[in-house]
Amino acid sequence: MTELRADVLVLGAGMVGVGAALHLQKRGRDVILVDRHEFAGEETSYGNAGIIEVASVFPYMFPRNLKEILRYAANRAPQVRYNVADLPAFAPWLVRYYLASEPVRALRGAMAILPLIRQSLAEHEALIAEADVGELLRRNGWIKLFRSKPSLAKALREFERARAYGVEGAILDAKAIAAREPNLTGEFAGGIHLPAPGFVPDPGGLAKAYASLFVRKGGRFLVADAATLEEVGGGWRLRGPREAAVAREVVVALGPWSDRVFAPLGYKIPLAVKRGYHLHLRARGNAVLNHPVLDADQGFVLAPMRSGIRLTSGVEFAHRDAPATPVQIERALPLAHKLFPLGEAVEAKPWKGARPCLPDMLPVIGRAPRHAGLWFDFGHQHHGLTLGPVSGRLLAEMMTGETPFADPAPFAVERFG
Ligand SMILES: Cc1cc2nc3c(=O)[nH]c(=O)nc-3n(C[C@H](O)[C@H](O)[C@H](O)COP(=O)(O)OP(=O)(O)OC[C@H]3O[C@@H](n4cnc5c(N)ncnc54)[C@H](O)[C@@H]3O)c2cc1C
Repeated sequence: MTELRADVLVLGAGMVGVGAALHLQKRGRDVILVDRHEFAGEETSYGNAGIIEVASVFPYMFPRNLKEILRYAANRAPQVRYNVADLPAFAPWLVRYYLASEPVRALRGAMAILPLIRQSLAEHEALIAEADVGELLRRNGWIKLFRSKPSLAKALREFERARAYGVEGAILDAKAIAAREPNLTGEFAGGIHLPAPGFVPDPGGLAKAYASLFVRKGGRFLVADAATLEEVGGGWRLRGPREAAVAREVVVALGPWSDRVFAPLGYKIPLAVKRGYHLHLRARGNAVLNHPVLDADQGFVLAPMRSGIRLTSGVEFAHRDAPATPVQIERALPLAHKLFPLGEAVEAKPWKGARPCLPDMLPVIGRAPRHAGLWFDFGHQHHGLTLGPVSGRLLAEMMTGETPFADPAPFAVERFG
């Protein structure tokens, strides 16, 4: 078997792995990017809502308000559902999520990730320019719609809070909503247009464009199962079907599957998933959707992707590998048809994916404490498309001894003991 040699193996070619590979390469490292698929961006980084969430100051934490908790516990809310059979397995993780959502802790976490959020779009812009795929970034932000006065009032309070951190936006009445999105129909209490976030109309295509850039610049892509990773004298070795690869350092960027590598190495990291679904539908006639639109009360997003209008669902707590239960998409579908003139579905059944999450909603970025040359970069929850490149930069700075542009301490795996 041929043995390829490099400085670093990056395991996982989603947005996070591709971002790490490019930033290491930029700093002179010879990198092999590894995935079980032949192409980058085929999993979670394909299926998201495409928003580069530069206006997202506060991560999605566990609700602290009893009324809201009871609403989710009833398991009928479109925003969150849980698979009853998986609940006992999930419960301890949910307790940790609840505890990490205590307001002071949550604010500390938000402030830790904020420098990355703020830098995220600039990192994408630089890579998009280098990859020459300007058509994959739109710069007109996204819109949140609220049907009830209480939900609008709550969103406006959150928006005011975010404004203190520099987030800009326009508060919309029905007329302003119609001016921005003439094809929407419905009774809205109001909306918020956040103009700063980027929108990627083909997120999987963007990961592929970044991977092509990496290869054009001399990087190598290897199809292999990351679970074959083994520690060898002074480094790491991986076996592919035809070739093996050896390097002194390895980065685990396997998103929701990162446990496949860290668990056998003895790390107990509370990585769980919040599953999500999407389905593409054709727009009817000449109807155009200008921005991604969140129907907040009905718990879904419509995003104008290249492959159709992508209807994405809220969160589902279920085992990563349990069979698909796209109840939220089924419930959202008639509501989405009422919101926007949608035609037939593009696919026979919804896509299922899994947001990789730690209970404090912060990623793990940094050195693995018990193994020389092992690095982690996973757990980017609802914001992995946004944070992939900027996390790659932070990690590469740590790995090459540069001064990190942001404090990496809050992302250290040691926070889990
Ligand atoms: C419905 C939904 C909507 C979302 N919307 C947004 C959004 O608008 N904005 C945003 O920023 N984020 C969003 N997200 C979150 C975002 O998509 C994820 O955080 C991000 O894609 C995670 O990227 P990743 O590279 O860590 O994981 P992935 O993209 O899943 O990449 C992991 C890679 O590892 C590979 N792999 C797995 N196992 C192995 C193995 N054994 N051997 C080799 N390779 C392996 C996989 O093939 C895959 O390519 C959304 C997520 C969902 C589900």
